Amino acid sequence: MAAENATAIVIRAVPFSETSSVVTLFTRECGKLRALAKGAWRPKSAFDAALDLLSTCQVLVFRKHSDSLDVLAEARLENRFRMGTSLAAFHAGMYVAELLDALTADGDPQPELFDAAQKILLELSCFCGPLEQVRARIISFELEVLRIVGHSPTLLRCAECQTRIELTPRTAFAMLDGGTLCPKCRRGKRSVVSVSADALASLRVLAHSATAWQTIVLGDSVFTELRAIMSTYLAYVVGRRLKLAALLLSPSRGAVH
Ligand SMILES: [Zn+2]
Repeated sequence: MAAENATAIVIRAVPFSETSSVVTLFTRECGKLRALAKGAWRPKSAFDAALDLLSTCQVLVFRKHSDSLDVLAEARLENRFRMGTSLAAFHAGMYVAELLDALTADGDPQPELFDAAQKILLELSCFCGPLEQVRARIISFELEVLRIVGHSPTLLRCAECQTRIELTPRTAFAMLDGGTLCPKCRRGKRSVVSVSADALASLRVLAHSATAWQTIVLGDSVFTELRAIMSTYLAYVVGRRLKLAALLLSPSRGAVH
């Protein structure tokens, strides 16, 4: 049984017995792991707030080599996810955790993905900005994650023949082929949706610039269209629909006080 130090994001926590918890951690060094946190629910737990959902913490884990759970020996809080005035930002944070869980395998380190996740969680924590920014930020994160895991949708060229795709009122977007299709290649393809020029232009901007989410204006209809595309595309990549994707569509324009 080897002891490992790692930086971890808490992406899931379920009770185990009266006082313990099984936490799913996405760590920078060891990838995703599930560990037993003994006594996590005790009033004076050694883990304190380090195991709150979406927290980043430094952990010491005893790794088991069989199918049994790893054991969490220590967890020291580094950043706690706090809700600001934006309910949408909290929902987005929960969705980030589900996305990380769905896109990663146990014990497969992906430091670039970890860094991207840590960055967005820091931005969403205590977030008090407008709903539009949260909406754009989560789409930019989805595009970034898809790039990191090797499933970037093509947005500028035909996914099949590589012809450049000019912006026209409607463009074919193929879920199975991984992006836009020219009219010639579109024929006979399955799982193809039609994307508006505004939605495709927004996707291109968000995929191209890491900071565009701060200023881009996504109208309600374009946002709804983008959510349908991203959720469906991710469902093809992951193999199932992500449950919390529906939360991103909720009209949580109101602030939380
Ligand atoms: Zn083509």
